[in-house]
Amino acid sequence: MSTAQKEPPRGLLVVYTGHGKGKTTAALGMVFRALGRGLRVTVVQFIKGKWKTGERLFAETLPQLRFHVMGLGFTWESDDLARDKAAARAAWETARQEIASGERDLVVLDELTYTFHYDFLPLEEVLEALRTRPAHVHVVITGRNAPEALLEMADLVSEMVAVKHPFTAGVKAQIGVDF
Ligand code: ATP
Ligand code: MG
Repeated sequence: MSTAQKEPPRGLLVVYTGHGKGKTTAALGMVFRALGRGLRVTVVQFIKGKWKTGERLFAETLPQLRFHVMGLGFTWESDDLARDKAAARAAWETARQEIASGERDLVVLDELTYTFHYDFLPLEEVLEALRTRPAHVHVVITGRNAPEALLEMADLVSEMVAVKHPFTAGVKAQIGVDF
């Protein structure tokens, strides 16, 4: 019996939330898997753009992967909330187009939940874009404190529980492990 997929893909809405480490890592693991299968992948990180991350550096070596970082400072680095809001809006416009076009099989919205917490983006607008997306598009959203309405809409929700984290033992974030 062949194990090849015969059903047309059913796009899933996946949410990785909770206070434990592993949300972004899980999303990037899915990207790794999807790229291996030739899926067309876009990642949009809703994080302060100054931070260099390992995933961002590696993405530069993968021409088939579209990788966007929101850019600018973010809240605690910037005293200009309007500028942060505009950066979140611009990142969302990119994400919205990637999702709506149907030309990507997987779109990751990393740390998107923070934009709701800071009122940078209206939740309803994001939910509407997810609701009306082409049927084959998988969307993965990460971040703490995911809103209830998003969890309700999701097909898959995994909560990372912080059972133990080296930070509490005084171990600082490490290159290649945390960023
Ligand atoms: P990762 O990117 O490592 O998968 P994450 O996406 O689950 O982590 P975020 O809330 O985005 O977690 O925070 C990212 C950073 O915070 C990482 O450096 C991570 O090690 C650290 N971190 C995550 N969870 C905890 C925790 N419970 N205590 C302290 N630091 C944490
Ligand atoms: Mg994260």
